[in-house]
Amino acid sequence: MSPWTWTAAARSHVGHVRAQNEDDYLSVPEQGLFVVADGMGGHAAGEVASRIAVDTLEERLTLRGNETGGESQDSDDGDVLAAAIREANRRIHGESRDDPERSGMGTTVTALRLRGGGDWTVGHVGDSRCYLSRQGELERVSRDHTWVQQQVEAGRLTPEQARGHPASSMLTRALGTGSEVNVDRYRGELREGDLFVLASDGLTDMLSDEALGSLLASGRGPDELADRLVEAALDAGGRDNVTVVLVLARREA
Ligand code: CA
Repeated sequence: MSPWTWTAAARSHVGHVRAQNEDDYLSVPEQGLFVVADGMGGHAAGEVASRIAVDTLEERLTLRGNETGGESQDSDDGDVLAAAIREANRRIHGESRDDPERSGMGTTVTALRLRGGGDWTVGHVGDSRCYLSRQGELERVSRDHTWVQQQVEAGRLTPEQARGHPASSMLTRALGTGSEVNVDRYRGELREGDLFVLASDGLTDMLSDEALGSLLASGRGPDELADRLVEAALDAGGRDNVTVVLVLARREA
């Protein structure tokens, strides 16, 4: 029935510097749903924000929540992802407004949905990233919502200057900071061997796209790659929480 299948691996590490891990992730291969969220805010509120994002997506997008999960194709995946992300935003913003300890909390979210028919869809807010490694070529799928990214697009910073820039964590868009949020969407069709990487900035600040691309092109499976990526970020300093979700898509024989 389903010509496409996938295997996934997920890791999250607190890193060498931070006391807490404010990243969170979701990996539900049987329903083709994968999420990374990177929270921010004092008094452990960042952990709360990223957890609300992940929980809301799980509730809204998997069979554990309701029937819009699974293989139902009645609605557009981009619409459904965006609606779930906007719902997460409302919940985080509501808690942040009502609880002084959680005032100002927020999170990024990058969510990938794969379908057995061969379509992929990404919903994205913030500076966690979705990459696609296809036939050894690494492509950034999502565009960072950061001040630094705006400078790169305006030609005022090079991509190399952007990575690890002192202002690199300054977000221009996040969940929880306003009552509404715009969700970016990306979509495409799967090809044999497509390898998706969702990652928090604790990976991508530590590792250039070139370094990431060559690790991914090694032909290793998602499990071993996930270990290698976290290891590489830690070896490079591990200044932030590191979270990766890898998803390898194969066409069934
Ligand atoms: Ca981070």
